[in-house]
Amino acid sequence: MQKILLVEDEPSIARFVELELSHEGYEVTKAEDGRTGLELAEKGGFDLMLLDIMLPGLNGLEVLRRLRKTSQMPVIMLTARDAVMDKVTGLDMGADDYITKPFSIEELLARIRSALRKQVKQETSALVYGPIELDVLRHTVSVNGETIDLTGREFALLQTLMENQGIVMTRETLMDKVWGYDFVGETNLVDVYIRYLRTKIASKTDQRLIQTVRGLGYVLREDESA
Ligand code: CA
Repeated sequence: MQKILLVEDEPSIARFVELELSHEGYEVTKAEDGRTGLELAEKGGFDLMLLDIMLPGLNGLEVLRRLRKTSQMPVIMLTARDAVMDKVTGLDMGADDYITKPFSIEELLARIRSALRKQVKQETSALVYGPIELDVLRHTVSVNGETIDLTGREFALLQTLMENQGIVMTRETLMDKVWGYDFVGETNLVDVYIRYLRTKIASKTDQRLIQTVRGLGYVLREDESA
């Protein structure tokens, strides 16, 4: 049973939401103020938090700000109508979604399902190729279980190759996916970054994994000439 933490100080809304969510098969825990909500959230064990913004004690944005230091639990903010700044701030601070009061229970349920689906996706965010494991969510890469430090571009380049393993990627495609603009001539930037990547990967394994396909580009596959 999926567990939802509901932080809402207005008793009528809290009761209504709790009733409907329980009816849908969720287990609901309620908190009536920000501080209690944060304490419960930090203890963990919830799949998602519904967080009102206007709360006594700590307001919802402050709860979210503090929570995000330790937890990536999905959070849907409950906002008052027309509180545009709250919505923007909430999303900037790492809220996954928001819903404006008054809301229909169908809309709330749809957003809960969507946020939970995203979470499942993120939890299986690891790409694996041979000894390389790349975690998209945590932004970490290990080779043979040992972490290697990559810059943002190196990470994006490796991620692109891993998502397309076995497929030859032209310099132009890599340029476009990693640097995000139409290059003018200077595709040797790709070669330079491939060299950086190879060196870092080679520090943890003897396998040569990124192959050059002469005249075309690069591919992540076993070295057939070895
Ligand atoms: Ca409130």
